[in-house]
Amino acid sequence: MYYAIFFRACILILGLCILSSCLEKKHQAKKTTKKEIVSTPQSKSDLQLLDSLFNTHKEFESIQFDSPVGKPSYKGYYNAQEFRENDHLGEDWNGVGGGNSDLGDPIYSISNGYIYSSKNIDGGWGNVIRIIHSYKNKYYESIYAHCDSIFVKEHQFIKRGEQIGTIGTANGSYLAHLHLEVRDSIFMDIGAGYSTESKGYLNPTEFIKTH
Ligand SMILES: [Zn+2]
Repeated sequence: MYYAIFFRACILILGLCILSSCLEKKHQAKKTTKKEIVSTPQSKSDLQLLDSLFNTHKEFESIQFDSPVGKPSYKGYYNAQEFRENDHLGEDWNGVGGGNSDLGDPIYSISNGYIYSSKNIDGGWGNVIRIIHSYKNKYYESIYAHCDSIFVKEHQFIKRGEQIGTIGTANGSYLAHLHLEVRDSIFMDIGAGYSTESKGYLNPTEFIKTH
């Protein structure tokens, strides 16, 4: 009698052990799958991932580039600081009304692309959106800085001319303007916005006009 109870108890414990081990394995499998889904290209070693993203979303490859403000060609805006003026690595687009008259104005994606970063960062940058463009088998990046608000999430595709955010002051650091950069070297650090070294940076207006 006692042997029978002992035997049943053993079977029950063994059963519980097998069940909990199965549940654990299932949980681990779930975790791995989730990690694969959220992984996104962040560095040069992830170029293959970027290639496969654009290969499966060919409708988001770039055909043409337009201005990021006053669509389609800077209507109502002027460039207050040219590319390379004072070692500037981008352009500062301001409304012709001056001051903060352009605060909250729309910012558009200059072309089709993939948003790999869209967030508030430190160092006088404020809200920054970084978009990778695939154009004629080469990658370019456009950067939109000091935004008042951002309407797009990381890891999504975007079409040319879609609104991605609004012009801002980087949390009150400057009078409202859009700092725009265009790079032909993707995944570089955000940098300082100014440098005597401009390798990897392009003249945005020139690039947009000729592409
Ligand atoms: Zn600037």
